[in-house]
Amino acid sequence: MENLHHILKKYWGFDSFRPLQEQAIASVLSGRDTLVVLPTGGGKSLCFQAPAVAMPGLAVVISPLISLMKDQVDHLTACGVPAACMNSSLSSQERRAVEDRIREGSLKLLYVAPERLVIPDFLERIGRSAISFFAIDEAHCISSWGHDFRPEYRRLQILKGTFPDVGIHAYTATATAQVRDDIIRELHLQAPEVLVGSFDRPNLQYRVERRGDLLSQVVEVIARHPAESGIIYCISRKNVDELCEELTVRGHRALPYHAGMDDRSRKCNQEAFVHEQVEIIVATVAFGMGIDKPNIRYVIHTGIPKSLEHYVQESGRAGRDGLPAECCLLFSDGDLVVWRRLLSEDGPSRQIALRKLDDMADYCHSGLCRHKTLVSYFGEEYAKENCTGCDNCQGVREGVADSLIIAQKILSCVIRLGERVGAEYTTAVLTGSREPRVIERHHDKLSTWGILSTVDKSKVRGWIDQLAAQKYLERDGEFRVLRVTDSGRRVLKGETSLHLTDPTVKSPRRTKFAPVAGGDSRDTALFEHLRTVRRRIAEKLNVPPFVVFADTVLRDLSSQRPTTTATLRLIRGIGERKIDQFGEEFLRAIREHAPVETNDGLPAVQVRSLTGARRKAADLFKQGRPLEEVARLIERAPSTVSQYLAEFIQREGITDPTPWVDQLTQNRIRSSSVHVGLAALKPIFEDLKGEIPYDTIRLVVACLRNENPTVNRVGEGI
Ligand code: ADP
Ligand code: MG
Ligand code: ZN
Repeated sequence: MENLHHILKKYWGFDSFRPLQEQAIASVLSGRDTLVVLPTGGGKSLCFQAPAVAMPGLAVVISPLISLMKDQVDHLTACGVPAACMNSSLSSQERRAVEDRIREGSLKLLYVAPERLVIPDFLERIGRSAISFFAIDEAHCISSWGHDFRPEYRRLQILKGTFPDVGIHAYTATATAQVRDDIIRELHLQAPEVLVGSFDRPNLQYRVERRGDLLSQVVEVIARHPAESGIIYCISRKNVDELCEELTVRGHRALPYHAGMDDRSRKCNQEAFVHEQVEIIVATVAFGMGIDKPNIRYVIHTGIPKSLEHYVQESGRAGRDGLPAECCLLFSDGDLVVWRRLLSEDGPSRQIALRKLDDMADYCHSGLCRHKTLVSYFGEEYAKENCTGCDNCQGVREGVADSLIIAQKILSCVIRLGERVGAEYTTAVLTGSREPRVIERHHDKLSTWGILSTVDKSKVRGWIDQLAAQKYLERDGEFRVLRVTDSGRRVLKGETSLHLTDPTVKSPRRTKFAPVAGGDSRDTALFEHLRTVRRRIAEKLNVPPFVVFADTVLRDLSSQRPTTTATLRLIRGIGERKIDQFGEEFLRAIREHAPVETNDGLPAVQVRSLTGARRKAADLFKQGRPLEEVARLIERAPSTVSQYLAEFIQREGITDPTPWVDQLTQNRIRSSSVHVGLAALKPIFEDLKGEIPYDTIRLVVACLRNENPTVNRVGEGI
């Protein structure tokens, strides 16, 4: 284990393990089969990647999607761990190169798709080299009870029989016992060590709001996370296209994703999002599996998902890196009606689905802690009284003064009605309706008829939902008939206190959301600058930005501002390879950016000011000086100056790149952009066969975007 701490620091730059990682790794080292259940973002990858480095031989990782494999291999490679993948996307030349590395014994991890295991003689061939262990990522795919069942995963049964002496280790974020049992049985795990972590995600902020003016509600969330990545889920394809379009018109960089698009466009849009060429993806639930992007700062649902399992899964894609992230659910009661209509025919599965929908509805209407509700749904205790990370605990909704009396009126009306009717009808009676159905049944004679007639109907209905959400009422059968529970009876006797809120308030009081970069505006400015540097490096290497450095690293760099390699080593998340590869470029960026003076009278930290250099460069650009000359005059690398120039073009709204790019090159980029769009640089770069450098493309694209500021961001072909 000591060796593993060393490996963790050397390759990943981390100082400590997350909960259960150490036990999970120890189990791999001991050769015992393992099942690890940790939530999304819990750090499952490291549980097999670190021991793979420590153990002799090759670790074979089974992963369901090519995009997942590719990102993990890129990440490992950037950390200096020899890893490769073997899948249908490789050319035969690339495949041979991987096979050579396997034969030489120079690889530590090999990622493969499950289908590959049954290709004749594949197992035999890899069996010739020493295999350290098998890791099955996203292992719930093997269970038909899980939400992502993949029949190919069943083929993994073959592993235990073929390699009885090699450890098999399975990893999943799906918590149900049924799925867990399926995994153990299907993989033939032998007396496995089963490690189950906590499912709470303390860095996620949950909030729920009634849907009103959807666009402005969405824009408000986006505004809390400027220039950061977010997912917006819509129920239908049509909603996706419309919302995406509206956001684009407002100048947000958003792309759509749904099953109605062709494969290529979907793949392009996913990649543009992962590579941070756009900030926002507007999608149906078809989007998400295969996304390992750790720095998604918000997930918005614009309608009710069909179960809490789905909600946890989808919202859980926010904040894998452990930094604060926001999960916002915008709903309307009408969504429930739509879902009920869409649910399958009568039968037991319909009953289960209805119950799940009720739980989801309760979550929406509830005044209880969201963190507590979610973890207890999965059978976990939640100890904290106040999570401080959800709308209800933050008290964004004002309580109603006489909650207890209102609740007693409602509950006693339910009892008077014989616990035989649903919420709509109960509302009608409480508000004193003279509808024929009420009169015919003589319910206008009940003592509770009209007992809340001074209150708006939608409010009463909302309170019934709140009481159900707090389990004072339960619903039953196809007609969702209301019954008073035992705790509801205690309310009637006045034995408990309770809390109701005004359900008609659409936008309750809001709490602030701390930016990732920290509260200091100088830090934020440097953070943004480092992000640009990171994006440039990532574009060059053709990897997602998070492969270069995590947001946590950028945050620490911008607050601690190391200026030497030695101090750089102190930042968590930078291993040795990354220091060699990227260290100098980031140190330079930090040195350039540090402010000359601070207004609190403290001495300047650094001598050179970026604002100074930027200003000088801008003056020279205005005179139409060529890029190389500006670089020489202000003593900066041409690549840095090119970045300044792109910003200058954008800021000044310049549409003609002529002083800096020759006419022929301009024309090539312009005509390429007609085909592949302006949303991202990479498609243009590839379309031009890599003959024109990114820096040049960026300048021309900035001008073209200025020409057409509204449609600019989403290219048709992307
Ligand atoms: P999972 O597969 O469980 O969803 P990942 O393996 O993708 O989670 O890890 C999520 C994030 O947590 C990654 O950005 C990873 O770098 C980070 N991480 C994992 N282990 C540690 C650790 N010990 N210290 C700091 N960060 C970690
Ligand atoms: Mg994972
Ligand atoms: Zn809470």
